[in-house]
Amino acid sequence: MSNTLTLTSSTSYTPPLPAQDVVLVVDDDPDMRIILETILVEPNRRVVAVDSGESALDWMIQNRVSLVLLDVQLPGLNGYETAQHIRAQERFSDLPILFLTATYRTEALVAQGFSVGAFDYLSKPLDTQLLRNKVSIFLCLQRQRLALELELERRRQAEEALRLSAIVFEHSPEGVMITDKKGTIISVNRAFEKVTGYTEAEAIGQKPSLLHSGRHDQAFYHQLWQTLENTGQWHGEIWNRRKDGEIYPEWLNIVAVRNEQGIASNYVGIFSDFSGRDQLRERLHQSAYFDPLTGLPNRQMLFDRLQLMLAQAQRDSEQLALAFIDLDNFKRINDTLGHPAGDALLQAVALRLRSQVREIDTFARLDGDVFALLLPALNDGEDVARMTQHLLSELKRPLSVKGRSFHLQASAGISVYPNDGETATDLFKHADTALHLAKETGANGIQFYTQAMSVRFQERLELEDDLHQAIETEGLNLAYQPQVSLTDGRLIGVEALARWHHPQHGSIPPDRFIAVAEDAGLIGALGEWVLENACQQGVDWLANHDRPLRVAVNVSAHQLHDGGFHHTVARVLKETGLPASCLELEITESMLMETVDETILTLERLHALGVQLSIDDFGTGYSSLSYLKRFAIHKIKIDRSFVCDVPEDSNDMAIINAVIAMAHSLNLQVVAEGVETEAQLDFLQQALCDEIQGYLFSPPVRADEIAPLLEQEFVVPKRIIKG
Ligand code: C2E
Ligand code: MG
Ligand code: MG
Repeated sequence: MSNTLTLTSSTSYTPPLPAQDVVLVVDDDPDMRIILETILVEPNRRVVAVDSGESALDWMIQNRVSLVLLDVQLPGLNGYETAQHIRAQERFSDLPILFLTATYRTEALVAQGFSVGAFDYLSKPLDTQLLRNKVSIFLCLQRQRLALELELERRRQAEEALRLSAIVFEHSPEGVMITDKKGTIISVNRAFEKVTGYTEAEAIGQKPSLLHSGRHDQAFYHQLWQTLENTGQWHGEIWNRRKDGEIYPEWLNIVAVRNEQGIASNYVGIFSDFSGRDQLRERLHQSAYFDPLTGLPNRQMLFDRLQLMLAQAQRDSEQLALAFIDLDNFKRINDTLGHPAGDALLQAVALRLRSQVREIDTFARLDGDVFALLLPALNDGEDVARMTQHLLSELKRPLSVKGRSFHLQASAGISVYPNDGETATDLFKHADTALHLAKETGANGIQFYTQAMSVRFQERLELEDDLHQAIETEGLNLAYQPQVSLTDGRLIGVEALARWHHPQHGSIPPDRFIAVAEDAGLIGALGEWVLENACQQGVDWLANHDRPLRVAVNVSAHQLHDGGFHHTVARVLKETGLPASCLELEITESMLMETVDETILTLERLHALGVQLSIDDFGTGYSSLSYLKRFAIHKIKIDRSFVCDVPEDSNDMAIINAVIAMAHSLNLQVVAEGVETEAQLDFLQQALCDEIQGYLFSPPVRADEIAPLLEQEFVVPKRIIKG
């Protein structure tokens, strides 16, 4: 840190003084060269000898030289000429050149030597001591000169650095305040003036307490000085007061500038105003954590809060719930009315639902039309169900958007801590799974997540895939259960029942896979497959036996309400050649009640084709018998649940009696399902039931097992006609 404040630091590198002097001897006499080398060599001195002026110049191109000892009389360039060439180079302008001469020295010659830059003359034969002394003196002078030059260069660079530092100081966007060792302000920069509102003149001579905001106590400042003294610096967030009285936060660095003895001579404070940044930070926070459309917390914020709440719930041993709420049919609204209307609707939803949650709850928008509710401090899981239910019912109240009124429906998936997960990630994932299930099991529902539920969901997805495969690849087959006439004990019909033998899971009950097919949109294909195969089978039986056999096929709600179902039936009858009277369609009682007018029409169309229609599972759908008059049906099938407690349950027996009597009065035939015992058979015979279906006679069997039964006469008790 203190380095940034060392205003005298160099801007470039200045090399130190060389450790070794280099003396270049130039003499054409080899003996002389050896003598000179021997005389002049010293521990920190290198002596290099060459034989000509040209060689000397060559050598000097590459090497550093401290002094040249130059013979005047040389072959080629003589000593003066060589000296001239040396001096001609800028870097050698101050290089000591000493001439060696044996010739008689005239004044003119000496003058010529000095004029080309000689420092001195030495005569041959040499005075060894004099030579040594002169070389040493000139080398010493040369060193001093060099040292001086280096020092000057250093100073020049330091001044440059200072000048740059001053520019930085003045123009730094950070406020700078320099005090003396007693803490009196001696210098401030422009940014200081701008941030604090005090001019340089007002600040100089004052103490930094000029800026105290009053937000920090004595202990704070004490701690600050303590740190500064111990470590030489302090940094942190501090609240100061501007000249106009406004308090603002700043990030402050204080550095103690110490002298060579390590004693603080100055303090430099550098600070940046935070207040603008706070707003920026706030804006960044806003965009990172809030949904711009509704202003609600977004997924990230919800996740962060959930993590916080989880820690709290864990500490206080409380429950916590996360509910994901998905608007049904929002996509359709968005597509038909356009995105601006969709956006406005989402805003209205956010406004309404947010007003319904408690202060401590978080209501967030995850994405699209999915909202989320985080409920901490729960007493039990019922709380969240009630709250979610309340929000869903709030959505059903009309919402007015752009002059239109909307009644929305939604589904919700809920995960609860700690039962459904202990981490935010798990609870998110599981609320999502529960939501999927809620959507799947029908609009406007609430689903809780449980481990079992999650597994079921996964299995369900896999099962859908497998079922799809099975339908495509003839992986299904049909079983047929005989229906026996109570009048003569003959087999008069069979009910076709779909069977699925799963390659891994074995046999899967139709109740289960029919539901899967319905949810996965596969029921149409499955139903058609059953219809085609059952009719084909009916034709085969017809071809091989003289007595006609009726084949009953179960119809799903989806098929019945499809609109074109009668066309499908007509096509299959035509393609297989089965007489319409040999086909019976079983429709459950609950299906009749769904869209009555449409159903009446569909049944009439089917009736017109000549097929038989029966009401399956009769008694479970709360329809009244008289209501049945409106439908073009032939038969009712009393549900197994009424039969199974015969003869113990007198209520059930009374109901069966009443149903049969009323059905007959409406000219409807009656079949009893699930007959397992002789006692039940007895009772049904006496109650004048027309037909029987149940394990007592036969379970559902393979098609080829039906043929022998056709010839058989089942033993049925004689009817005792009362009265
Ligand atoms: P469902 O139409 O009421 O069929 C009668 C069910 O009762 C059959 O069960 C049959 O095996 C069973 N059952 C027959 N006699 C007895 C008995 O004496 N005791 C007992 N406990 N049960 C008996 P399954 O085959 O499991 O079929 C269940 C349901 O699955 C059927 O009820 C029907 O609603 C549906 N289903 C079966 N096949 C199809 C189909 O091809 N299409 C449609 N849409 N639904 C089908
Ligand atoms: Mg049935
Ligand atoms: Mg049934």
